[in-house]
Amino acid sequence: MIVGYHFIKVPDEKLCISLLKEIKEKHGIVCRRCDSSEYYWKQDKMVFECKECRLRTSLKVGTIMNRSRLPIHFWVVAVNCIISGSFKLTIKDIQRKLEHNRYEPILEMCNTIKMQLERLKPERKSGTSLISFNEMPLSEQHFFTWAECQNESHKKIDQKLIILYLEWLSKSPQIYY
Ligand SMILES: [Zn+2]
Repeated sequence: MIVGYHFIKVPDEKLCISLLKEIKEKHGIVCRRCDSSEYYWKQDKMVFECKECRLRTSLKVGTIMNRSRLPIHFWVVAVNCIISGSFKLTIKDIQRKLEHNRYEPILEMCNTIKMQLERLKPERKSGTSLISFNEMPLSEQHFFTWAECQNESHKKIDQKLIILYLEWLSKSPQIYY
């Protein structure tokens, strides 16, 4: 599989927040304390607040970004760098691209992403060659998304890939059994 190299421009944090919010709303917001699905969105705090019990849930809860202090757009860029050319880019390169002054949080984030990529790798049983887009490994989803909109503007490709990565990032961490 040839991966379509495409390095996205570092996106705006506000854009990533609103896209991730949309993704989470599409999948449904359910309060983890009282199971209510009625909520308010608190723009100033970037949290969902349960209408029933007022429990606040940050956007990162239930995703692999949970407890990370790094902004969401860092994760988007890191996924893009790892998928597009992990053998070319070092953690230092990614850190430089993100203009972050500390190495350790970037290393930790990249390790979390790599671990999740391994864990979410679909098992292909022989004889079942046709799988849906959602079942493909992220690198293949990246390739098809990129190939599909190759003739479009850089900005449009970026937007599609950002949504793809955020969908992937919003999945909860998988656990080995
Ligand atoms: Zn609640």
